[in-house]
Amino acid sequence: MQKGSLGGRLARSCLAVAAATSASSAGVPVNEPLPRIPDVVISGLDSGLLWVLESGPIWSGHGTLKPCVVCGLKIADHEIQYDVVGPRGSLPVHVKCYHIWRAKSDNLRRST
Ligand SMILES: [Zn+2]
Repeated sequence: MQKGSLGGRLARSCLAVAAATSASSAGVPVNEPLPRIPDVVISGLDSGLLWVLESGPIWSGHGTLKPCVVCGLKIADHEIQYDVVGPRGSLPVHVKCYHIWRAKSDNLRRST
């Protein structure tokens, strides 16, 4: 165990967001600014957290307050949620995250 020098510093502009989304949920680093969704999708595909989308969403509707599989933020009930099926079952995703994910998936499928 060694003390990290990165912990405990929060940019002022992130405070509101961090408070609103509550850092209690699984493994989301709170000491970084919110990453851009395309970057999250790329690294998710890279690490196996996400998969190349083959088919469309199996469900869409208002958010069910579950964390988005792409960005990890809760999908609020005034937002639209898609459920997509992958290797780990059906998982919720923001529409905006889905579209970016979908575009990356299409690129990957075309290039392989
Ligand atoms: Zn999302």
